[in-house]
Amino acid sequence: MSTSGPRVRIAPSPTGEPHVGTVYIALFNYLFAKKMGGEFILRIEDTDATRSTPEFEQKVLDALKWTGLAWAEGPDVGGPYGPYRQSDRKAMYQPYGQELLDKGHAFRCFCTPERLEQMREAQRAAGKPPKYDGHCLNLKAEEVTARMEAGEASVIRMKIPTEGSCDFHDGVYGDVSIPWDSVDMQVLIKGDGMPTYHMANVIDDHLMKITHVARGEEWLASVPKHILLYRYFGWQEPVWMHLSLMRNADKSKLSKRKNPTSISYYSALGYLPEALMNFLGLFFIQIAEGEELLSMDELAEKFDPDNLSKAGAIFDIQKLDWLNGRWIREKLTPEDFIARTLEWASENERLTEGLKLSQSRISKLGELPQLAGFLLANDVGLAPASFSGLKTTPAETLEIINTVQADLEKLVEWNVEAIDQELRAVADKLGKKLRVVTPPLFVAMSGSSRSLPLFDSMALLGRSVVRQRLKIAATVVASMVGSE
Ligand code: GLU
Repeated sequence: MSTSGPRVRIAPSPTGEPHVGTVYIALFNYLFAKKMGGEFILRIEDTDATRSTPEFEQKVLDALKWTGLAWAEGPDVGGPYGPYRQSDRKAMYQPYGQELLDKGHAFRCFCTPERLEQMREAQRAAGKPPKYDGHCLNLKAEEVTARMEAGEASVIRMKIPTEGSCDFHDGVYGDVSIPWDSVDMQVLIKGDGMPTYHMANVIDDHLMKITHVARGEEWLASVPKHILLYRYFGWQEPVWMHLSLMRNADKSKLSKRKNPTSISYYSALGYLPEALMNFLGLFFIQIAEGEELLSMDELAEKFDPDNLSKAGAIFDIQKLDWLNGRWIREKLTPEDFIARTLEWASENERLTEGLKLSQSRISKLGELPQLAGFLLANDVGLAPASFSGLKTTPAETLEIINTVQADLEKLVEWNVEAIDQELRAVADKLGKKLRVVTPPLFVAMSGSSRSLPLFDSMALLGRSVVRQRLKIAATVVASMVGSE
């Protein structure tokens, strides 16, 4: 292990499908470490116990492994500054909360959720941004002790200077100045004793000896809170680098409503991880035209943190397709190509499970591509004609698809049982029989009304492909509504 080089990290929260934005930030950190002879570390930030799940954590690890990025320390590989999962570090944070209270940099707050809601309501009504009003800031020590002893619930909040601004340098944004009066008295330790993101993030970055914090620009506004914590503890601040977010072609923030954002979507469709990393890596480096096709090592070589690309990260799917095609045609040997194709088809057991589901439904093997091909296809060719044989009207079909789409987003686990239950609940909600709700979904998933069992198919396709097919189906069916 090198001790002199920089130490950087990716710190994902396992609260959803691994996002290409996470990989984009991870790649930046990885290239930085590789170029500068440092270490790239993975830490799981699961302090939000209500939204973090072990399944999502596993998916984050699988997605990051799929990309080819490798970390020197992390929850799966260990390391000298572990554990690397924040929920396993809970006891480590306690003394730091106490230290800030003792030094007078933080205070106990007994405000109830109801009071905070009333406060925010009043602020909203007055057109002011929501911010803690300091209700408990000056409670007497005896009162705090008495209320604690009486068992009253409390959190620990940080104190914020009342005047001036937080001035700091960002490696990407340059000099930044944020007035202190726009900074909230952040909760540091929650009622259940768990730290919030801000508290755990700073303590861990310090304890894990992180030298450079490179993350998405959405965290720029949090830097004053973080800087204050470094000062309160008397610790050396890291170098800050906030990267511009990836955007859709229309400059809006990359979101799953416009473009699929899950890594699992890109792997399911048969993008090569090398091509995706090549595509993302081009956002950071300056190259001449014709030099686009680059491996991870070549990207690292050309990576220069002092001369980052200023072009902005536009998620241009056509460019990704172009690079992916070039990787397939120019970089894979025929043997590699075959091996990679088989590996891809076997992902999520689509091939084997698809065959098992098909066996009782065919009379000749040659019917397989027609019957089960939708499990592997990028596009099932949905068109108005695909939906025209349904018993439901286009308006009803659209209502079914939209309801299913919204409700599936709420599923925590993605498996046959969970999908089965959810679709039954949708049928109840719509006051329709399950056998009325399922035919439009068969078509949306497979492009055909004769296909494999629906719930199994959806489980095999995976959440992100299902989301995309429902989205396409909704667009197609919406075009039929009114032209009946
Ligand atoms: N857990 C945060 C996230 O999910 C990490 C932010 C940071 O890198 O400080 O984005």
